[in-house]
Amino acid sequence: MCQHTPVDKIVIPYMNEVEGISTMPVPGRRCPACLERGDTVWVIPGKCCPQCGTPVN
Ligand SMILES: [Zn+2]
Repeated sequence: MCQHTPVDKIVIPYMNEVEGISTMPVPGRRCPACLERGDTVWVIPGKCCPQCGTPVN
């Protein structure tokens, strides 16, 4: 059985306070810069990493 799980993509909750929507699942990506340091930081594509500010597309 193949147990491989694609970890490059994951659905994370996104708080949209402007629209008043509590949760909206969006695809997230890991920050490559933080990943090199051994940290796994999930960033919404098109946003900047909250830890180091690296733009993630
Ligand atoms: Zn980062």
